[in-house]
Order: sequence, then C-alpha cells, then structure tokens
Amino acid sequence: MSMSPMSTSPMSGFDVAVVGSGIIGLGAALAAHRRGQRVVVIERGSEAAGASVRNFGHLCFTPQAGLAREFALASRELWLGLASDAGVWIRESGTLVAARREDELAVLQELAAARGGAEVELLSAAEANERMPLAPGSAVGGAFLPQDLQANPRQAIGALAAYLEREGVEFRRRTAVGAVRPGRVETSRGPIDAGRVVVAVNHDIDLLYPEVAERVGIVRCALDMLRVSTELRIPLVAPLLTGWSLVRYGAFSATPAAVALRERLHAESPALAALDLNQMYTQLPDGSLIVGDTHVRGVSVAPFQAESAFESLLEVTRELFGLEHLRVIERWQGVYASGPNDFLIEEVEPGVHLASATTGIGMTTGLGLADHVVGAFEPATTTPQRGAS
Ligand SMILES: Cc1cc2nc3c(=O)[nH]c(=O)nc-3n(C[C@H](O)[C@H](O)[C@H](O)COP(=O)(O)OP(=O)(O)OC[C@H]3O[C@@H](n4cnc5c(N)ncnc54)[C@H](O)[C@@H]3O)c2cc1C
Repeated sequence: MSMSPMSTSPMSGFDVAVVGSGIIGLGAALAAHRRGQRVVVIERGSEAAGASVRNFGHLCFTPQAGLAREFALASRELWLGLASDAGVWIRESGTLVAARREDELAVLQELAAARGGAEVELLSAAEANERMPLAPGSAVGGAFLPQDLQANPRQAIGALAAYLEREGVEFRRRTAVGAVRPGRVETSRGPIDAGRVVVAVNHDIDLLYPEVAERVGIVRCALDMLRVSTELRIPLVAPLLTGWSLVRYGAFSATPAAVALRERLHAESPALAALDLNQMYTQLPDGSLIVGDTHVRGVSVAPFQAESAFESLLEVTRELFGLEHLRVIERWQGVYASGPNDFLIEEVEPGVHLASATTGIGMTTGLGLADHVVGAFEPATTTPQRGAS
C-alpha cells in the first residue's frame, strides 16, 4: 500500500474508505487515489442506482452561486479530464434557456449584465426560436450558457467506476455499511479498516447519521422523471431550461427580476407551482428526451408516484415544443438529500467525513465537493484498528 504523508493506516487496512459509489463517492475515490492513497469503495447495491444515475446529466455550472460555483468550476475541469481519461461521455454543449415571457428574459438580462457575455450569451427572439426546438415563434428571447456541459448519467457513473477499478481502487459491492467509527467501517461482510472514511450516501445520511440529519435539517426530496421518444423540430443539442428553472438555481434566483417572475409563475400556474416544477430537458445520444421534474420533500417520501404529476409534465412538454405526440419510454423516481444549505461537509468524528450535496446539483458540483473534502484531510488523529479488511 502507499504510505504518502497523508497516510496513517496500518498495513492491514486502507488509507481511505468511501461509503457510496454515486458521483460524490466516486469523486472522493478519484481524489484520494490521485493523491496516492489506497482506496476502497463500499457500495450497498450491485451497482450504483441512486440519484447519480437517475438525473438529467446537466452539468449546469453557470447558474451556481457561492460555494456551489466554486465546486462547480472545479468539477468542470474534472469532468473534462474524465472524458479523456475514463471514457466518460461528455458533450461540450452549453445550456440553452428559453424565455417565453419578458419577465424570464429580464432574469437572463440581469445575469448577463453581472457575468458578462462570455458566460451568458443573450439570444434574440429569432436566435432563440432558431436554436431551440420550441413551438414555432414562442420564444421572446433566451440565453446560451457556453461553459455548461452534458453527461449521460447512466454511462458516466459506470465508466468512472470502471476507470477507478482499472486504476487499482478496490470496490466492495453488495456490501452495506451499518456503522462507521474512526478508523473502522462496519459492513454486512465484516469490518474494513481505513485511516479516513468519506461517507457519501446522499439521503441515506438520515439512516447512518440520523442525529446529524436532524441537526442540520436534511430531509428527502423525491422527484418524478420521464424519458420520452418524440420527433423534435430540430435536435436539442444542449440541456434546455425554462422560466421555472430561473427561480431555482442560485445565480438566476438571486437576480431582482426573479422575484416578480416567481410571483407571476405561481399566480398563473398554481398547480404546477404546487408540484414545485423545474421544467427542463436533456436529449440523450439515442435521441430520447429526459423530461422533468417535480419535487416533494419530507422526512420520508412516498414511493407512490401520482399519475397526475406525470400528466402535467407531459402537458407542459407538448406545449413547449408544440408537439401532439410523445411516447413515454420510462418513468422513475429520484431522491436526493435536501437541506437549508447546498452542502453537508462535516468531520463528524476524527477522520470520518460526511459529504453530500443537499440540493439537486450534485452532478454539477459533486466532483469538486469531493476533491475539496479529500484535499483538506489533515493527518488522521486516530489509528485504525487492526483486523479484517
Ligand atoms: C431526478 C434527479 C435529477 C437530478 N438532476 C440533476 C442534474 O441534472 N444536474 C445535477 O447537477 N444534479 C442533478 N441531480 C442531483 C444529483 O443527481 C445528486 O445531487 C447526486 O447524484 C448525489 O450524488 P451522491 O453520490 O451523493 O448520491 P447517490 O448517487 O444517491 O449515491 C449514494 C450511494 O450510496 C449508496 N449507499 C447508501 N447507503 C449505503 C450504505 N449504508 N452502505 C453502502 N452504500 C450505501 C447507495 O446505494 C448509492 O449508490 C438530480 C437528482 C435527481 C434525483
């Protein structure tokens, strides 16, 4: 095993154990491996099946603010590197934003004024209608955010895990972690010793660390998602956001114009507001369209997905693109940790680090978050126990 300056584990264990193999766990494994650490990833499932494979694959760096922006920009470099190193499918697509009303355009104009044209390119009505497969003539303008990227989540997570395995990171799958103590992870297949542990279990933090989840106000957020087959007027060459997205992401929602936009959307469409809609789309390489999404939060969330929510998603999709027919290929529920802050970053016991995105931007920020957590490791203050690993 490697014995870098960060390492304090004995020969029987690992330098770093990562719990969870979603994007944040894999990001932590990548960061530790690249720092010369001996890493094991412990995953409850036979493969990752959490939020990291259920999302849009929209790497939306531009609309982030504060710490999320810092992690987003770090993630961007890492994603681009993984495209060549790990064969992760990444499209340097940018993001398209459709403004169908003047108040939506006002948010884009304010962000463009703050960030400049290199980050937010405003589109005229003619350009917006030409570049997006919207119902003809429906855009009053729009924006193109050139720095953003698109991944295919189902491909990305598998490719990254395979790359890490080729690089020598060990994976213990179908192995559930029941408890973590400094230097030791208790699993359904016995203990694993490690100098540091990164716990990246998304919403299941409320099972492993219920008192932390309660203290910081983390609950679960469940989302309805669809994949549809359809004939768009022109291909959707970049993730597409709508007015509903402009009242969500930090940098958009911080503009003064977003206040009036939110009021108008909620007054005009209370049923969609009640679904906490973020109407957005990505097109996968096979041409199918990921459609979403709705949000319901709670300490626990019902697994039963109301068909009325899917009907609303399909209705707004037909209206946006001016389509009559959509064929639903798949429906699914995604769940992520949701809290008052964007992230949970905490050394909960010596050498035990919790890392979670606590709003729906973990694909965008997760690699940067994980790199930040691992990069900040001080020499461990405890010595892991010897024994089975
Ligand atoms: C529907 C949906 C759409 C989204 N769209 C986007 C988007 O377009 N862009 C974006 O930036 N973000 C998006 N997000 C958010 C993003 O997907 C998440 O923030 C991110 O994937 C979280 O990554 P993670 O590694 O923390 O969690 P997960 O991917 O959920 O991984 C956690 C892993 O931990 C494992 N695990 C849990 N408990 C244990 C245990 N006790 N022992 C062992 N293993 C355990 C689980 O099996 C799972 O594999 C979306 C989320 C959803 C749900």
